[in-house]
Amino acid sequence: LPSKLPKGKTSIFSVMSSLAREHEAIDLSQGFPNFETDARLKDLVYKAMKDGYNQYPPMNGIPELREQISAKIEKLYHIKYKADSEITLTAGATGAIYAAITAFIHAGDEVIVFKPAYDSYEPTIKSNGGKPVPVQMKGEDFCIDWQEVKEKINSRTKMLVITTPHNPSGTVFSKDDMQQLEALLKGTNIILLSDEVYEHIIFDDIEHQSASRFPGLAERAIVCSSFGKTFHNTGWKMGYCVAPEALMKEIWKIHELTVFCVNHPTQKAFAEYLKHPENYLSLGNFYQEKRDKFLELIKGTKFTGTPARGTYYQVLNFAKITDEKDTEFARRLTIDHKLASIPLSVFNYEQKDNSQLRFCFAKTDETLERAAEVLHNI
Ligand code: GLN
Repeated sequence: LPSKLPKGKTSIFSVMSSLAREHEAIDLSQGFPNFETDARLKDLVYKAMKDGYNQYPPMNGIPELREQISAKIEKLYHIKYKADSEITLTAGATGAIYAAITAFIHAGDEVIVFKPAYDSYEPTIKSNGGKPVPVQMKGEDFCIDWQEVKEKINSRTKMLVITTPHNPSGTVFSKDDMQQLEALLKGTNIILLSDEVYEHIIFDDIEHQSASRFPGLAERAIVCSSFGKTFHNTGWKMGYCVAPEALMKEIWKIHELTVFCVNHPTQKAFAEYLKHPENYLSLGNFYQEKRDKFLELIKGTKFTGTPARGTYYQVLNFAKITDEKDTEFARRLTIDHKLASIPLSVFNYEQKDNSQLRFCFAKTDETLERAAEVLHNI
């Protein structure tokens, strides 16, 4: 049968995590914590189940959770999203990304994506007949050449996708980046899809520059967030997106067709848990300590890298060790040395020397220590 995605493959995250399981390797590949979500949050979910919140919630999420999200965004980014029409709970951020792209991309539409790009964007664009238009990020710091972006915008450009803090590179868009983007999109009908799932995982006192902070971006932006990434429960698959009402109406049409609505007891729990901002505001410090610990532990190895400024991923260069391709080295590292990572080339990224791997440091100190020991022995 003709495939809708002839070049589509199982995601690298599933591939590397299952290779890690098969070879009993330490898994620093797929991005998820190997420690527990807060026991208080779990208790809130049990409570909601016991209290009978076990049937369909409203399609866009329960009102009290949408209210909490609206208040949180207003406090952090100084913009008010209407809880009833501009906020939707989704099946993880991936659910939001899929609905957002599918709602707006028609055959022949172009979508600008920055490389390395998170792996769900391009197949989703292609499955809707759209054409991803890549812009390579440049240098050690993964910078964006906004002039190049400008040159790639034309009458077919329907959408532009950004990720900040950026997966897999760990870089963060600056205020200047966002203002340049705002100026570029001014006067166009281009929709901005802003994937901000690591919004609270940002280091060294850098402030997260949400698209929602910039009026010229917010008026055209679909901003995606993830409770899984923020509250250490990726398996609950709970995220949300916010967008101006006119855009959200279209997103709902796809959201209803794919999942209809998302888990009710979990929404009850998050509505309560979000009342305590310390539950997410401490996250940057928490992960900064993990990053620093990991970088300290690997000092003296042959792996080098610029410290991540956000996300829970650290990119390391292995050019001093071997000239193998990153995919081959990542495989060998998993099978022979029992340490799994993600090779950067799978994000269709034109690396200079093809020798970068992404390591997830959302792990217990003990796991990070064992991983570092492996890296010291290579
Ligand atoms: N966002 C996670 C990562 O980058 C993976 C999510 C997934 O596997 N769908 O590793």
